[in-house]
Parts: sequence; structure tokens; C-alpha cells
Amino acid sequence: MSALSPAEHIWMDGRLVAWDEAKVHVLTQSLHYGWAVYEGIRAHPTTDGGLAVFRLRDHLARLVRSARVYQMDIPYSADELAAATTELIAAGGGGPRYVRPLVYLGYGSMGVALDLSAVRVTLAAWAWEDQPARSWRLMTSSWRRNHQDTIPPLAKATGAYLNSSLAKLAALRAGYDDALMLTSAGHLSEGSAANVFVVRSGVLHTPPVQDGILPGITRATVLDLARAAGIPTLERPLAHAEAYTADELFVTGTAIGVVPVESLDDRPTALPAPGPVTAALRDAYQDAVTGKNTPSADWLTPCR
Ligand code: PMP
Repeated sequence: MSALSPAEHIWMDGRLVAWDEAKVHVLTQSLHYGWAVYEGIRAHPTTDGGLAVFRLRDHLARLVRSARVYQMDIPYSADELAAATTELIAAGGGGPRYVRPLVYLGYGSMGVALDLSAVRVTLAAWAWEDQPARSWRLMTSSWRRNHQDTIPPLAKATGAYLNSSLAKLAALRAGYDDALMLTSAGHLSEGSAANVFVVRSGVLHTPPVQDGILPGITRATVLDLARAAGIPTLERPLAHAEAYTADELFVTGTAIGVVPVESLDDRPTALPAPGPVTAALRDAYQDAVTGKNTPSADWLTPCR
């Protein structure tokens, strides 16, 4: 659980609304049917003393793709949403920010035959500090990942997170940091809100999109950074037991960055966490988000 730290305004359907006034009606369609899509984006302090959003365009493109799965036409262009995001962050005063765009169906009708024309868009940004660096202990979840043919995890839809929250809450209750979810066929899928990587004999393996994952932007970044560092990468279905035979394991996500995993179901990885590949990729990721060494200029959108 992470507590919200309120900012001054929230952007709602094209205008800035005071944080405490950013409300919806209790009969908002998405509240009843889970039909909404969202993003989790971060602005990090950069080496030039500013603040920059990491891969903003890629996050907004994924938001549009998620909305397309659920047949919602976002009535704002990516340029408009990008400008609103950076303005909201710049207005917030210094410090790292987490940004949450949400596309949902508003008030006005009720029923499973949703009114898809009632699309609403909101953007919020609030203060977000890095968590202290530590490795995680994972538990294989008894909850299987949604299949891409049921509630597709490739779209970042609010309702799909019932699956993630069931797994995360069970893992926390059992004393672990996160759940590792399997597909119904028993392949490795992902964490509750993070992609998973297995390192064995110097090769980086990660499950493919078919195996119930969200195509993470941190995942894509880490794959790029690994290739640039000459680390072989493979996106392929992984058997559950392959995680038990890993030299190194780590998970990735916008909120958490690159987090080393020390054990799965209390079975430690062959190398103590963080292993050398994990540590190298964690450092390379940190350098990319802070502008110290960012492979592509369009990965950073300055906020002021
Ligand atoms: N999988 C799930 C289910 C997630 O919620 C997230 C967090 N957005 C990720 C993976 C990691 O994605 P990203 O690196 O784009 O944050």
C-alpha cells in the first residue's frame, strides 16, 4: 500500500480541478464494471537538475492501445495528453512524480451493454520517492494469470487488476514481497504489477506477451539495455521450474524500477541477489531514467 500525497490539481476532461474536488458520481459506469484503462508513469530527477518523464510517448501509446482493446476513443491527442502531463508535473513543484492517466466510462447509463461514448479522461500526478533498494522474496501464486483470451493482460485495464490484487494480497499476507503468477498452462507469466526475468548462464530470459503479461515499458527498456551491453536476450515461454534453476531473478516496473529477487518460494537463486547481470541492468536503467546515460533522446521529456 502506498499513501497518496495530494497535489494541488487534477486534470479532468481538459481542465484543472482542485485535488479534493476531483470527484465522480457513484453510478459512474467504470466503477461498476471495471471498464477503464490506465497508465503508471514516472518523472525522475535528471543529472541537469531538472525533472523528466521517462518514455512518456510510449506510455501514452500503450494507453491508446489499451483503450482500443476496450473500444474507447480517447477524445484527446497524444500531444494534448503529453502537454497536460508535463504541465501538471511542472505545477507540482520539484521532486519526483508518479503520473496516473485514467480513461473511463462516465455517468449516464447503466448495464452490461456499456455506453462506450461516455469516455472520460483524467490525469493525476503526485510526489513519489524511490523505495529503499532491497531484494524481494517471491511466492508462486495459487491465482493463475488472466489469459490473453479472457481479460487480456496486454491491456492495462482496471478490472484486470482484480487478478493482480488477489495474488499480491495473498503474497503479502504470507510474508512475501510479491506473487509470481503462472499461466493456466503453468508457464511463468509475471508479478502482480511487474515483469519477470530469469538469468541463466549469462542469458536473459523473459516470458512473451502470449503468456499473460503486460508488455512493460521497463521490460522493453531492460531488453534494449541488455542487447546494448552484449547480453543475449530471449523472449520465450518459461516453465515454472526454470525459475527455480535461475542464477538470477529480477522483476521490473515503472513504480519499482529493476528489483533483484533473492528467492522464489523460499528457494534462493543460485547467485546471491543482486547477481552481476541484475546489478548491471539495474544501474543501466537508473542511468537511463536520470539522463546520465540515456540511449535515446526521446525517452526523456523534460518538465521544466
Ligand atoms: N505487469 C503488470 C501487470 C503491471 O501492472 C506493470 C506495471 N505497469 C508491469 C507489468 C510493468 O510495466 P511497466 O514497466 O510498463 O511499468
